[in-house]
Amino acid sequence: MEATVIETNTPEETFALGRKLGQDSIPGQVYTLIGDLGVGKTVFTQGFASGLGVDGPVSSPTFTILQVYEDGRLPFYHFDVYRIADVEEMDEIGYEDCFYGNGVCLVEWADLIRDLLPEEHWQVTIKKDLEKGFDYRRITIEKCGKRERLDG
Ligand code: ADP
Ligand code: MG
Repeated sequence: MEATVIETNTPEETFALGRKLGQDSIPGQVYTLIGDLGVGKTVFTQGFASGLGVDGPVSSPTFTILQVYEDGRLPFYHFDVYRIADVEEMDEIGYEDCFYGNGVCLVEWADLIRDLLPEEHWQVTIKKDLEKGFDYRRITIEKCGKRERLDG
């Protein structure tokens, strides 16, 4: 498994990392974002959207599960499944067209819909470490594929 670890000490640094990945993203990529409430998933997402050239204000689509942005370099599908009650809600919003389409998906709280994720995706895990300061974040980016899924 390819894993990269980046440490940030400000929201701006996390935004910049998201922005870089958004700039480099290619059609069909699915990113998952794992981490506790308030860790910086939305900050990362805002950077990612900026890297894709999305203009609009990007916030957590808490009550809609999915927010679609069409004005960037590629269609951007931002999921926040924190409040999902039943995975059937994913069917209702047509998640497969997003995951297997020509845009880029970013899924906050992806561990709640793990079984629906494409085998191949990029997992971004954000963690705090209060011993290193209130604004410190350890961000791990790893590519998940078939072999990793069998292990997990
Ligand atoms: P989440 O979406 O994971 O619930 P948010 O991105 O909405 O979290 O909020 C993260 C909060 O943490 C913001 O208030 C942000 O300013 C703050 N923060 C402090 N340090 C960092 C950092 N290094 N990276 C990202 N966010 C940070
Ligand atoms: Mg959020």
